[in-house]
Amino acid sequence: MIFGSAGFLIGIVLGSFAKALADRSLVGKSFWGRSYCSQCKKTLRWYDLFPILSFVFLQGKCRYCKKKIPLEYPITEVILGILIAYLFAQTFADFKFTVYSFQLTVLLAELVLKTFFIVILAMLCMTDMKKMLIPDRIVKPAILIGAISLLALTIYKIGYLYYYLSQSVLGRLLLPPHSDYFQRHALVIAEPLIYGVLMGLAIGGFFFCLIVLTKGKGMGGGDVKLGAFMGLMLGFPLSLLALILSFITGAVFSVGLIIAGKKHFGQTIPFGPFLVLGSLIALFWGSQIIDWYLKLGS
Ligand SMILES: [Zn+2]
Repeated sequence: MIFGSAGFLIGIVLGSFAKALADRSLVGKSFWGRSYCSQCKKTLRWYDLFPILSFVFLQGKCRYCKKKIPLEYPITEVILGILIAYLFAQTFADFKFTVYSFQLTVLLAELVLKTFFIVILAMLCMTDMKKMLIPDRIVKPAILIGAISLLALTIYKIGYLYYYLSQSVLGRLLLPPHSDYFQRHALVIAEPLIYGVLMGLAIGGFFFCLIVLTKGKGMGGGDVKLGAFMGLMLGFPLSLLALILSFITGAVFSVGLIIAGKKHFGQTIPFGPFLVLGSLIALFWGSQIIDWYLKLGS
């Protein structure tokens, strides 16, 4: 409960930040600099910037020009608040604080990495829904930061294994040249990174082929990069599940729109939000879904 509440508070702050960066990436404004009212452009003060609270206190109107603050702001903040709260609650659900600091460090590092993943997904979902655009300014650095973080975490884990083994006589016998125990375990530790890179290349490559085959109808270069990002961050098999879920939810939604008469066949809708939805489902419940699916077949 306490972790969920902490997650919610962190989430609404990140939501406010994600909304600002998503908006700035669409109008080509610098990511740096003070927040301003989207209507009168007046620079906002610190007390105007409390997520949700400022919106409620100002009754949804700008303090300076009195124009309505778009509902997207508090909605984004609440959605990210709920997502990060759930992530925190899930992460700490069966965590015992008596474990070694190494495990706590890894747990926190993975929590930060997942939070980063969710925030980036939220930003790209917003820009794609608004302008059918997945901005390079967000997705390219996100891929780079994700890859470097995964690499750093892998090196840290392997380094710790080496250090741990070298501390005892028995452990030293498991190190080269006496045994291949260390190399085999290091390879297992590196799996998320290896699978992440391979799945990033596979999904990005798959979307690229789809674009070439369909001559750019339906998907764009942004989807290639978003696909690479989700492959990298989710690895195998979760990113594959995310991809399948995206196609299913996207298809159901499109058919729904056609039946409702809102769209006609062949008209494009942004695919990014479905990739984001599939990624979130895979991140939170992917392991359970795969277990359930494998039980069906046996
Ligand atoms: Zn204003």
